[in-house]
Amino acid sequence: MHKILDGVAIAAEIKLEVAEEVRLLAGQSVRPGLAAVLVGNVAASEIYVRSKVQTCAELGIYSELITPPDTVTTEDMLDLIASLNDRDDIDGILVQLPLPAYVDTKALLDAILPSKDVDGFHPVNVGRLQAGRPALAPCTPAGIIEILKRSGVPMAGQHAVVVGRSDLVGKPAAMLLLHQNATVTICHSKTRDLGAITRQADILVAAIGRPGFITPEMVKPGATIVDVGINRLNTREEFDRFFRGNAKREATFAKRGSTIVGDVHPKAFERAGAYTPVPGGVGLLTVAMLMANTVHAAQMRRDLPRRGL
Ligand code: NDP
Repeated sequence: MHKILDGVAIAAEIKLEVAEEVRLLAGQSVRPGLAAVLVGNVAASEIYVRSKVQTCAELGIYSELITPPDTVTTEDMLDLIASLNDRDDIDGILVQLPLPAYVDTKALLDAILPSKDVDGFHPVNVGRLQAGRPALAPCTPAGIIEILKRSGVPMAGQHAVVVGRSDLVGKPAAMLLLHQNATVTICHSKTRDLGAITRQADILVAAIGRPGFITPEMVKPGATIVDVGINRLNTREEFDRFFRGNAKREATFAKRGSTIVGDVHPKAFERAGAYTPVPGGVGLLTVAMLMANTVHAAQMRRDLPRRGL
């Protein structure tokens, strides 16, 4: 019997805790505020940002959605960030990625005040996280740790293998697992004999960006699998590769014309002791942790004690 690590329930639990923090801050006349900047018309980015703004409203966090046109220049964006840095009612600044290629993403992320960097991408926060100092940690990796902790999955002494070394997910996830005293191996596209390494994993984190990449033979029986991947399947052929004969998925595909699969092949979950499903796993934690980070940023900027999470 495989245990499903329930991202829906855990995200709901975290959001309740964040709402309680927001209520306590209101008693001190503080309302955390998030500015979300969305450039252009990338459909997926729009969906993500709107769900972030909507969640702010649910939890009592002030939010502002700023949508510069896709003709915006790096200079315009730097001016915008500078004005948000200066505003006292804004505790968190989120620039939805990816940005159009002609905008200097690194320059923008570096321009966000580290104390307002709720995505945890600023080099100062990256360094603080590495040094084990209080920091705003990237939301998806922080969500991975919360889902494992709250599901009672032990991390100390376990061999955690992270496949993927991006600055957004793989590297910070590995660092956070190390802080939990896991023994961590990081793999990437140049890793030799990947399967031999993933088969050693007690905890296998897949953050690759390739549909169903982790196959059953790459998994140690009984391992915990954290599937970070979100890959949309748009054609019947792609769908059949993973979900042929799966009635529930067939219904989704018929209704929406697409469905999503993670970086782990659905059959690989059958070898796991526990796993995060896609959808319904890590993805939901990302938004919940963004809310938590916004509240932490509000607390830290005012030298209020950081509580909870
Ligand atoms: P990136 O494309 O930035 O990084 C992918 C990583 O996977 C790279 O380190 C790359 O290695 C590695 N990789 C690629 N191919 C192979 C291979 N054949 N063997 C081993 N390693 C490989 O992706 P992200 O980290 O941004 O995202 C990863 C996944 O997570 C995506 O599916 C994305 O959609 C999803 N995601 C989900 C979020 C959520 O909220 N759940 C949030 C963010 C991302 P190399 O460095 O050598 O190129």
